[in-house]
Amino acid sequence: MKKFGSMLNGARHALKLSKTVAMGAAAAAAFTLSHGAFAADAKIPVVAAENFYGDVVQQLGGDRVDVTSILSNPDQDPHLFEASPKTARALQHASLVVYNGADYDPWMAKLLAASKGSNRATIVAAELTGKKSGDNPHLWYDPATMPKVARAVSAALVAADPAHKSAYDANLAKFLDSLKPIDAKVADLHGRYAGVPVTATEPVFGYMSDAVGLSMRNLRFQLATMNDTEASAADIAAFERDLREKRVRVLIYNSQATEALTKRMLKLAQQSKVPTMSVTETEPAGKTYQTWMLTQLDALGTALAAGGANAAASAAKGKTQ
Ligand SMILES: [Zn+2]
Repeated sequence: MKKFGSMLNGARHALKLSKTVAMGAAAAAAFTLSHGAFAADAKIPVVAAENFYGDVVQQLGGDRVDVTSILSNPDQDPHLFEASPKTARALQHASLVVYNGADYDPWMAKLLAASKGSNRATIVAAELTGKKSGDNPHLWYDPATMPKVARAVSAALVAADPAHKSAYDANLAKFLDSLKPIDAKVADLHGRYAGVPVTATEPVFGYMSDAVGLSMRNLRFQLATMNDTEASAADIAAFERDLREKRVRVLIYNSQATEALTKRMLKLAQQSKVPTMSVTETEPAGKTYQTWMLTQLDALGTALAAGGANAAASAAKGKTQ
């Protein structure tokens, strides 16, 4: 069970100190010293805990990296993941490890502590974004996160393989440029829908919803879903009232955290004609991080527009009665 808001695990924290790549020049220099140049034709073995970080490493490293992503199945709940011996073996040979942190993937820190790779660099998204245990861990839905991760990954690749610095620099510039349509879409939705009330079954999309400026309701219910604990009767009743009375324009539904209760909320939204939008917390096959984010923002825009039409229709109906 992964407790949102649980105490920071001291051992886990200590372990990340030695080779974490941070953004600062000092940290980058320390990294270079601890990590020798790579053989000219060998690929850099990289392990990413989550496949969207793996995708970004692949985009930044091109044919110079050999990436293994551990969480890659959008049909499983990552909060319930248990690492296998196969995961541990992949880590043993990794030169670079990227994971989320903030208690999303606590098994990763444990595995790293158990397998002492001598030349291994670690990048933790939570550290780059100032997030910790107890914060919403779905950091990759914050548009500010991936540029930071990308810069750190790129610095680590250059440090491991300085002969190809110009290629890594070009890949980084291209990657950062490719995020611009996401920012533009967020700004566009913000302009149209800031302040609009929505709800969700789990806080997976929370940072993106915040970036769009939506007013997110029923947070306690969402935390209970994520932590696999029971929502209170009052929180369930409030959620149901929001749907039944259309106090929210959209229900954001995490298709990776499905229990009887969240399924019931989905059904209630459909019955109440509250538009729903399905999100995943693992990158689906055939998508890049960028196309994944854009697809979901498009779906959000569609749902908000439908919810807006709903609200307008019921307001008009109210006037004529
Ligand atoms: Zn989640």
